[in-house]
Amino acid sequence: MPDLRNHSLGSWWPQQSPIDLRNTLYCPELPTLKIKYPKVLHGTVEEHNLLIHQPTTACVQYHGQNCPLLKLHFHTPSEHLIDGTPALFEVHFVHKIPAFVESHSSAYLVLGVLMEARRPTASAAARGPVEQFSLNRMLAEKWTEPGENGTACIRTAGLLPPPAQCGDYYRYEGSLTTPPYDELVSWVVLRNRGSLDHPHEVQLENETHHDARPIQPLARRFVLRNFAR
Ligand SMILES: [Zn+2]
Repeated sequence: MPDLRNHSLGSWWPQQSPIDLRNTLYCPELPTLKIKYPKVLHGTVEEHNLLIHQPTTACVQYHGQNCPLLKLHFHTPSEHLIDGTPALFEVHFVHKIPAFVESHSSAYLVLGVLMEARRPTASAAARGPVEQFSLNRMLAEKWTEPGENGTACIRTAGLLPPPAQCGDYYRYEGSLTTPPYDELVSWVVLRNRGSLDHPHEVQLENETHHDARPIQPLARRFVLRNFAR
């Protein structure tokens, strides 16, 4: 398959991701999003992903369905923009939608969370740039190298806004943002950003790992939001 990463596919693949979340429509009928993650997620590292050990109790409840968490990973900078503005990085929680219903034919529900870091301290800046997988290591209680056998553990509290700020979201139909770019994703992107509060995590400003696909055309889609301005 050709590398379509930087191509605009809007002409024949009209539901690509990521997009700029702007000119959104307020839709109070959207269902409540319930994020049910344990304090620590256990999984296995494979390339940039933490593959969650299955079966898992980690899930989101949406449209009356329990969608189990399959994996999570990061993009730097954020892939989605909110009103034209990126964030330092974005966490993607990839869930399986267990039952297809007539009006809801996506295979995955991906929860996107835009994340910021506090300003660097002098001591953090003095430590210099960080390597590619530093993001994973910084957020983890325990992290194994890709290709190593073993379990990695990551704290969910550091990957989400405070619980009271997790209810407002944007919603649209889109695609995977890496090959094969299948248009099988129901996207839910939180309105509020998370932030890193560990002092050395601000080194992310020197992060050399850029892994964000360019913004794709909205085409004939609408982006909904469940909150009034
Ligand atoms: Zn992703």
